Amino acid sequence: MYGNRLLSLTAAFQLIAITAVLCRNIQLMLPNIPDVMHPPIPSEAGISEEDIEYLQSMENIDPEVKPGLFQGDMALNNEYFDYWRVGLRWDVFPEKLWLNRTVPYLISPLYETEHRILIYQAIRTINFMTCIKFVPWTGREQDYLMIWPVKYPSGCWSYVGRFGGPQVVSLQPPDDTGSNCLGTDGRPIHELLHALGIFHEQSRADRDKFVKINIDNIIPQYRSNFDKQSLKNTTYQFEYDYDSVMHYGKNFFSIGKGKQTIVPKYEGATIGQRKMMSKTDCLKLNDLYGCLGKPPNYNYKYYTLCNYMGL
Ligand SMILES: [Zn+2]
Repeated sequence: MYGNRLLSLTAAFQLIAITAVLCRNIQLMLPNIPDVMHPPIPSEAGISEEDIEYLQSMENIDPEVKPGLFQGDMALNNEYFDYWRVGLRWDVFPEKLWLNRTVPYLISPLYETEHRILIYQAIRTINFMTCIKFVPWTGREQDYLMIWPVKYPSGCWSYVGRFGGPQVVSLQPPDDTGSNCLGTDGRPIHELLHALGIFHEQSRADRDKFVKINIDNIIPQYRSNFDKQSLKNTTYQFEYDYDSVMHYGKNFFSIGKGKQTIVPKYEGATIGQRKMMSKTDCLKLNDLYGCLGKPPNYNYKYYTLCNYMGL
């Protein structure tokens, strides 16, 4: 507990120091982020403007579902909608990889300080647990993440992998409708993992061995959000992970209270946690970015960190 508070304090001081150095210069260079954005939505996903408006108007809905994008919170284009798998294949989409494992980022000045600290803590966690480095945008890098409280579509959403140029990750701060995208460390981490190239866990080809999808309980126009990919596209060396921060919760896109849309087949398994990266999320991310090394030159640092710190 005391350790956590100390960590938050250190995080706060670091953040204020970074902000002080960068703020004045960067404010002059900030691109204009409009209140309303139109992230690419694949036509196959079949989500209309009306659907999105309907979702945006719903209360008590999970903030990852609210934006009405592909599978709730991902902005995709047709080009790689057809090819996605649990993590993007860099041999198929080399341009989606963040170069040199480095992700320049900028946290919107529109956030309150306490919310900026929560976002910064999520970034620091990924920096610590992987060899990926989020670094403050200096104003010179062409590709960078802009972490922004987008007004429409609101909620928590992200592009998948590097999109090119300034790229938005939408994290809605807490308001009177709830804690939204910053209630737990896992929520901003979930969206940042999309931005790094990771998809939802339950879209794996082998998922039917592990979860039952109750089609009748899903709002009809969102049934395609529960599609899975062919085995060819989704071969993955890690085992199915109920604990993944990238797994849907049991009520995502449900028609009503108590109508579960996903039920784990393994008794006692719980899904949809948004506390922290799981051990497997951590290993998968490190593997995707080549942090684990190859035999015989394994880099045990990240194996150890994932096993100790992953949920
Ligand atoms: Zn997601």
